[in-house]
Amino acid sequence: MLLMISRRIVAITRWTLAFLALAGIVLVYRRWLPVSQTTVALTLLLYILILASRWSLRLSVAVSLTATLAYNFFFLPPFDTLSIADPQNWLALFAFLATSVIGSRLSQRARHEAEAARARQREVEVLFQLSREMLQTEHVATLLNALPSTIARETGAPSVALYLLQGDRLYQTGSDLASPLELPHLRQVALTLAAPESTGGRQSIPLRAGVRPRGLLLLHHVALSLETLQAIGSLVSIAIDRAQALEDLARGEAAKESERLRTLMIDSITHELRTPLTSIKGAVTTLLAPQTLSQADRTELLTIVDEESDRLNNLVSQAVEMAQLESQQIHMSFRSENLLTLVEAAREACSWVEAAHPLSITVPPAFFVLADPEFLIKVLCNLLGNAAKYSAPQSPIFVSAEASGEAIAVSVADRGRGIDAAEQSFIFDRFYRAQSNPAGVSGTGMGLAISRSIVEAHSGRLSVTSQPGQGSVFTFTLPVAAPVSAPR
Ligand code: ADP
Repeated sequence: MLLMISRRIVAITRWTLAFLALAGIVLVYRRWLPVSQTTVALTLLLYILILASRWSLRLSVAVSLTATLAYNFFFLPPFDTLSIADPQNWLALFAFLATSVIGSRLSQRARHEAEAARARQREVEVLFQLSREMLQTEHVATLLNALPSTIARETGAPSVALYLLQGDRLYQTGSDLASPLELPHLRQVALTLAAPESTGGRQSIPLRAGVRPRGLLLLHHVALSLETLQAIGSLVSIAIDRAQALEDLARGEAAKESERLRTLMIDSITHELRTPLTSIKGAVTTLLAPQTLSQADRTELLTIVDEESDRLNNLVSQAVEMAQLESQQIHMSFRSENLLTLVEAAREACSWVEAAHPLSITVPPAFFVLADPEFLIKVLCNLLGNAAKYSAPQSPIFVSAEASGEAIAVSVADRGRGIDAAEQSFIFDRFYRAQSNPAGVSGTGMGLAISRSIVEAHSGRLSVTSQPGQGSVFTFTLPVAAPVSAPR
């Protein structure tokens, strides 16, 4: 309503200005600037052409007719009458009228074509932007939720609704919304509408999957051609198909990967279980044999059974822990912990490391981190254990910490055998053990995978830098926490 009133005001102003300017030209030439009839005619013609190129055809034709009358009245003899004495002047008058009307039409057409070209360019831009935005999302749910607002933003529509037949779902944005009560109606339209349709300021675009109806896109108050609306409908369908296909692919990949891991886990566990089991079986069989064994031999065999059962136990609990961490079944509770206290606790928990290696700890006592102490000690023990396992006895191990922005970086360094550059990215994978591991060093290849999962659950990162022959530094980050006053 407001728009209509302001349009009318603009039209009235334009008409008034156009006729005032015509009156001005006539007045100037009649009163103050006596020139030839030709100059007057050319000036009026020029004025009408300028008018036609900017404003409406109706206005310029009306001004042309008035100018013809004024030209005849004021400038063709006999003056101040509408009659014309010289028949040649009739011809001049007719030529003036015809030229001004034809000229008006031509300028009007040129203006329309320029406007149409601009509109087409805008529509192509809208389609391009839409296709770019739509192709950025790879999940169907995110895409469907984002589609209405993306289309509204790019097309300038105040409200957009997307209705999908599958699941009878409606996604919308803006104020002029479709009500859920309309769902049966939308369903009906989606099933029957063959081509985009515009009714009462609402554009309905059918969506199809191949030839099957898929749903409906509703836009309000947009000035886009039906072809562009159809193209938007096709784009929406393609984007949904693409996201669906990507999701199916990812699901397939994930299923394949999970299957691969399951097989790998079974292979690895079977392999790792077999070694201790074979030793235990061998030892027990010997113990049960009728020949008499010396007390020392019996003790040695029982020690083997003891150690190998520990190894079995360790292997099974690591496999279970990894599986639980992966399926996020483990609950961790993060609180502010003093880092030095945690490192000291880890030192105690895996005291065998210090028995074989001098351990140097450089951790500022004022560092507090957000951590689950039980799990963090596990990570530290794992890294300390590896540093001890993969370096020569008595070579030193260093634990240090430094602040880096919002995080604290903790490093465990050794002067051991190091890790080949090509293998550094694999050692965090489950069951991966370096080809060059010394023969006697036992392990499951799961320690680092478990540690990385734990560190990532703390919003940190675990990484390694290493030089074969020189040693390795494992560094993980933890979020800084506010100090707690009373020691726990
Ligand atoms: P495990 O030690 O049981 O084999 P991990 O997951 O803890 O399993 O480590 C994976 C592999 O990474 C090890 O087998 C070893 O080859 C390599 N590795 C880990 N820590 C070190 C280290 N400090 N120095 C050299 N190699 C290491």
